[in-house]
Amino acid sequence: MFFTKDGKNKLLTIICMALLLLMKSEVKAEVNGEELWLWPLPYDKGITSYHGERDIPVAGASSNHKGIDISAIEGTPIMATKSGDIVPMGYDRRMGNWTVIDHRDGTYSTYQHMQSHEIIKEGFVNKGDIIGYVGRTGNSTGAHLHFEIRIGEVGRAKEFYLMPPVNPLSYEYTNAPPNIIVEKEEPIQRKDNKNSMSKNIYPYPERIIYRNIPMMRGDDIKWVQTALCDLGYILVVDGFFGDISKTMLIQFQRDNNLVANGVCDESTLEKLNELTKTNEVLISQETSDVVSETIGVSKP
Ligand SMILES: [Zn+2]
Repeated sequence: MFFTKDGKNKLLTIICMALLLLMKSEVKAEVNGEELWLWPLPYDKGITSYHGERDIPVAGASSNHKGIDISAIEGTPIMATKSGDIVPMGYDRRMGNWTVIDHRDGTYSTYQHMQSHEIIKEGFVNKGDIIGYVGRTGNSTGAHLHFEIRIGEVGRAKEFYLMPPVNPLSYEYTNAPPNIIVEKEEPIQRKDNKNSMSKNIYPYPERIIYRNIPMMRGDDIKWVQTALCDLGYILVVDGFFGDISKTMLIQFQRDNNLVANGVCDESTLEKLNELTKTNEVLISQETSDVVSETIGVSKP
């Protein structure tokens, strides 16, 4: 076959467009498979910092790492890990340019230290859509993506920082790089959050704690809540003993063969203390069901 120079260019354009269309339809197919997650970078240089406790890499960084750091060349496109509503969070001195996606199923993902905020979309994004580019804005030693997943109520992206983080590596990704070791554990089990430092600064409770009207409040309740959080029960550490705290405590009592009455008495306190020292309790399937009912979280 013979082509003029123009004809050749046209043919090339058509081939490129066909390829692009094919790629797009592949992404679409995955979206319909819903539960699958997408590794947020098409190419990277590996994970430089894992979820959980770590040595502080740069002054001001968190010693309890809420997500994972993926090293990549500056300008690498960042893709939505799952479809959902994108909520640009703007610029933060620590997180740099960052954004959150509400996946409409009780899971949220965040992308931090992005190069620029201007190109970021708003509204609904499909899994695989480019939502930004790897940068080094905020508190960062080099170009990388801080990627984090949290669990909370749908439609509350602005309260992202209040939600409990989960280890992103406890999920399976369709396109994870070969060096990624997925931790096959219940995503809401947070074994790596050994004895959170915050628990130590709250006083060990000296009173019996229970759901009362008005709600009991205090730092000793934060102690109980932090202990429950460390063991994987999902609640907010706010110092108020409300319905969610009570539900989670009852579940904890059930999981540990204590009297399941939601009253934090001496034996419950002792068990909480003992388990957060060794942190060996496994969250039961039943617990995740209770979580779903209580705060409207669907299981990841
Ligand atoms: Zn990080």
